[in-house]
Amino acid sequence: MGRREPETIHVARVKIIGAGLAGCECAFGLAQRGHKADLVEMRPSTTTAAHQTSNLAELVCSNSFRSSAITNAVGLLKAEMALLDSLVIRCGTDARVPAGDAFAVDRERFAAAVTSTISSEPNITLRREEVTSLDHDGYDFLVVATGPLTSQPLFEAINNFLGRDGLYFYDAIAPILAADSLDLTKLYWKSRYGKGSATDYLNAPMTQTEYETFVAALLSAEIFAPHDFEKAAHFEGCLPVEEIASRGIETLRFGPMKPVGLEHPVTGERPHAVVQLRKEDLSDDYFNIVGFQTKMKVPEQKRVIQMIPGLENAVFARFGSMHRNTFINGPKHLRPTFQTKLDDRVFFAGQITGVEGYVESSAVGLLVARYIDELSRDLAPTPLPYFTALGALGRHVAESSPDRYQPSNVTWAMIEDVIGRCRKIEKRGRQVEKAMTAIRAAAVAHTAMAAVQVTSPGLRRESPGRAW
Ligand SMILES: Cc1cc2nc3c(=O)[nH]c(=O)nc-3n(C[C@H](O)[C@H](O)[C@H](O)COP(=O)(O)OP(=O)(O)OC[C@H]3O[C@@H](n4cnc5c(N)ncnc54)[C@H](O)[C@@H]3O)c2cc1C
Repeated sequence: MGRREPETIHVARVKIIGAGLAGCECAFGLAQRGHKADLVEMRPSTTTAAHQTSNLAELVCSNSFRSSAITNAVGLLKAEMALLDSLVIRCGTDARVPAGDAFAVDRERFAAAVTSTISSEPNITLRREEVTSLDHDGYDFLVVATGPLTSQPLFEAINNFLGRDGLYFYDAIAPILAADSLDLTKLYWKSRYGKGSATDYLNAPMTQTEYETFVAALLSAEIFAPHDFEKAAHFEGCLPVEEIASRGIETLRFGPMKPVGLEHPVTGERPHAVVQLRKEDLSDDYFNIVGFQTKMKVPEQKRVIQMIPGLENAVFARFGSMHRNTFINGPKHLRPTFQTKLDDRVFFAGQITGVEGYVESSAVGLLVARYIDELSRDLAPTPLPYFTALGALGRHVAESSPDRYQPSNVTWAMIEDVIGRCRKIEKRGRQVEKAMTAIRAAAVAHTAMAAVQVTSPGLRRESPGRAW
C-alpha cells in the first residue's frame, strides 16, 4: 500500500495520564520522535490498592513477561516490540533474571530503569498529581493510560465522556478452547430454538448423572482468593460458573446449562443439561464456553472442563478469569489505532483498552506513540497488519463483538490467520516469519521517516471531535 509522503511536520504536545507500563512506553516513543509529553502520575500521593512504590511502570504482581518462545503469541509480541525499540523490552532485557523459557525480570531494577530513563528524557515532563478530568486544553493529544485500577474521579470523568455506556470495573472471562481439540462425535451444532446461524454454537449434552458429577466437581474446585479490593459483589448477570453452581443443584440447568431449545437435531431428545460453545469472533478455530466465566485455578479449570463430554482433550487457548479491572468497551468506542470514535485526539492506551497483561499494555503504549507521530506528520495513522501480534491488539480492541467484549491477553486466536490449514508447527513458523518481516519493514520505514526532524511546534489540524 503506497503511503503519502509527509507534507508538514509538527512537534506534538501530548498529555499522558498514568505513568504505568503503557504511559511510560508511550511517552518514551513520543520523546524519541521529538514530541513533547507531559506524563502525569498520581502516585505516591494517591495510590492504588495494588501498587506499593512510587516507581513508574511498577509490576504489581508477578515479575514475568511470560514466554520468550517466539512461536508463543506473547513471545512474538515481545520480539515485534523489540524491533520497534520498546522501552519496556529494553529495560526488561537489562533487568532479566533466569527463569527458563519465561522472560522474568528483577522488578526493582526494571522499574528503576524505566523511572530513570523517563526522568532524564528532556522531551518528557513528569508530574505527580491525580488527574480527575479529561481536560487537555493546550495539548494536541490526550492519552489515558490509567490501567485496571484507574482512580474513581477519573473513572467518573471517562464514564461521562463515553456517555455512560461501555466502561466496566470487572472482567469476566470464559475459557477459550482450540476447535481441533474437540471431539465432534459427541457434540452437535445448534442455536437455541434454531435461531441464528446453525453453525454458531456447538453443544455438549449431558445426562443427569454426568451433570451431577460435573456440578460436584465445580463445587470442589479450588478458586483464586480475591484480593481485598476485589471482594465486591459480582453482577448477577455475570456470576462465576462455580458461584452459580453453589446456589443449588438445578441452578446451572436454569442458567448457562439450560437444555431448552437445544434438543438433539437427530434424535429430537432434550438432554438433561447442555454446555454451549460459541465461535470466537475473530477466528473459526477457537470456541469459548458460554457463561463459564470462572475463578477456578488453572489446573482445576482443566480438570473440571475436561469432564464435559467432547471436551476430554480440550486444549485451552486462554483460561478463564475474573478480577477488578477498569476497561472500556473497545469495539464500541475505539478505532484500531486506539483513538476514540468521539474525538480522534483522545487515545486510550494499556489495559484500560481491554488488552490484558504487562506486555500487551506496554505494546499499546508503543502503538499509540507511533500513531500520534503519524498524525503529527499529517499522515493518516495506519494500523499494523492484523497478522502481526501488535496489529492483532488493535484488531481485538476495535473489531471484537461489542456485546461480549472482555479483556484478553494476546493469543493466536486473535492474530489473523493468513497461512491457512497446514501442520500446526509449520503454520506457527510461517506466521512468525510473516509477522516479523512486516514489523521489520515498518521499523525501516519509520526510521526513514524519523530522519526528517520534527520542527515546527504545535499542530495546525483542527479536530473534528466534540468540543471540550
Ligand atoms: C492485582 C493485579 C495483579 C496483576 N497481575 C498481573 C500479572 O501477574 N501479570 C501481568 O502481566 N499482568 C498483571 N496484572 C495486569 C497488569 O497490572 C496490567 O496489565 C498492567 O500493569 C497495565 O499497564 P497499564 O500501563 O495499562 O496500567 P498500570 O501499569 O496500572 O499503570 C497505570 C498508572 O496510572 C496511574 N493512575 C491511575 N489513575 C490515575 C489518575 N487519575 N491520575 C494519575 N495517575 C493515575 C496508576 O497509579 C498507575 O501508575 C495485574 C493487575 C492487577 C490489578
